[in-house]
Amino acid sequence: MRMSMAKRGVKSGGLKLGLTALVMALSMMVASHAEAAERAIAVTLRPGGVDAAKNISFVDVTLITTQEEGRRGLLRLPLVINNVKTSAMSVENLRARDADGDLALTAGYNPDGVKKYRYWRASRPVHGPVTVTYRIPITNALNPLGAAPPLELRSESGGFSGLVGTYVMLPDSDEPYRLRLNWDFTALGGDALGLSTLGVGTQTSTAKTPDELESTFTMGGHVGHEPGQPATDGFFSAWQGTPPFDARALMQWTHRLYGSYLTFFASPGATYNVFLRRNKINPGGGVEIGNSFVGTFDDGTPVEEFKLTLAHEMVHTFVGGLDEKDELAASWFSEGLAVYYQRLLPLRAGEITREAYLDDLNITAARYYTDLLNTTPNDQIPARFWADTRVRVLPYDRGALYFAQLNAEIVKASHGKRSLDDLVLPFLKRRTAGEKLTQAAWVEVVTRELGDKGKQQFDDMMAGKVIALDSDAFGVCFQRTQKPLRRYVLGFDPTVLVQPRRIIRGLVPGSAAAKAGLKDGDEILKPVPQDGIQADQNAKMKLLVRRGGKVWDVSYLPRGEVVPTWQWMAVDTPGCR
Ligand SMILES: [Zn+2]
Repeated sequence: MRMSMAKRGVKSGGLKLGLTALVMALSMMVASHAEAAERAIAVTLRPGGVDAAKNISFVDVTLITTQEEGRRGLLRLPLVINNVKTSAMSVENLRARDADGDLALTAGYNPDGVKKYRYWRASRPVHGPVTVTYRIPITNALNPLGAAPPLELRSESGGFSGLVGTYVMLPDSDEPYRLRLNWDFTALGGDALGLSTLGVGTQTSTAKTPDELESTFTMGGHVGHEPGQPATDGFFSAWQGTPPFDARALMQWTHRLYGSYLTFFASPGATYNVFLRRNKINPGGGVEIGNSFVGTFDDGTPVEEFKLTLAHEMVHTFVGGLDEKDELAASWFSEGLAVYYQRLLPLRAGEITREAYLDDLNITAARYYTDLLNTTPNDQIPARFWADTRVRVLPYDRGALYFAQLNAEIVKASHGKRSLDDLVLPFLKRRTAGEKLTQAAWVEVVTRELGDKGKQQFDDMMAGKVIALDSDAFGVCFQRTQKPLRRYVLGFDPTVLVQPRRIIRGLVPGSAAAKAGLKDGDEILKPVPQDGIQADQNAKMKLLVRRGGKVWDVSYLPRGEVVPTWQWMAVDTPGCR
């Protein structure tokens, strides 16, 4: 699962009859033998009816697991998953039975485990299929652990959603299971629909460990969806609640863009789902789960910005990451390309305007050139990634500008015949052929294209040398200009914001934070997302602060020194309008 920062951050094989049908029948027989030995768990989700606030207040879960003969340690639920408190402590009406009748279950914990679970053990060895039923209330309480991906069970407007790992008990085992997910909307009626990252309606997963099955996202009930029927290209989307924008139009836009990505990346297509739901803490971002994206909104979420988040996330699905051990150290590649293409592919597909492209490009350039820490070497990023937003944005901003300048060099050296696409697409294809995509392999690719200059440019980027972009790096329709912009200055030690208790220290005298009245020792009561604020020269920092018995709101413009920054502007020539 990869979290995305707010604001920047079914194949249909036509069946052939005749001989093919015979071969299929034979292979199905083989498959049914293989399945007999395979572990499986069938889960039915049955949401309750809607209450006066139009919320679903509980979901009843029935699960049947068949290959637990003689076992006693049966099921488990994580207590916390990706910083989200799960429903493990809220299980009600728990009942179990097997072939011998009622089965008493007792709950326990693993206080010393790396990942903490609540466990359920049977009072005797089980015999035959085990059926377990329980109820999970849906309270819509905010996650007590602070900023986290939108994974907990939530309901709005007759729909509900949540990650399997937050509310569905799974076998206490490391063996692979097939998960069959069924939906029962008897209590909801009407046109209720259930879908998950496995697909629309009843679906069965491939065999995965329970740990992997936890990362299945579910959404059901009265939800909006687009298209009406699952499309042959594999795209499907659903939303819970009412976003402040036209969700259907946005999802039609996303679907068209997805189609253009299939063409650009020469992909045969795969299932791609978009789920949308409300997020009160950090709207506009979301989380990628497998080939799906869970995006979030709140009443003020601007649709044009959100479009580029969706465009960004879909690039990830096609590009993936380098096969390097340290994901953060290699994120210049995945995030750099995702930012580079998030505006370029929609522009080429005619899905955003030239102005929107330019705005987004300038946001990247402004945040990069005003970043006091933009010379941080790449190998220091993993250690400081979560602690300092000015380091965290570097794989995105510096990565994207590295690829932009690389593209400019390739275009120039080939007299317009080649571009970055001609390196990226064949590189990605090597993964399909089973090759590992390493950083060294990428350096080989750029060296083959540009000689030593290609390697030098790469080494400079990794060393933290500020990227110098040509005036026409983004083509003849845009030219470079200089603009004075202000650096992002939080005004106190940034590691304060990643502590469990945010007690201000290292207050910078004379900073906007100090002028707003903050003092060392003040406690910040709510989590603070910074990445978007850093990207916006006019965005205020809003803090809820406590000093002694007094609690009050503090607001200030977290900006300092003015520095010359490169921006791009449109050139007003006929071919460029
Ligand atoms: Zn990303």
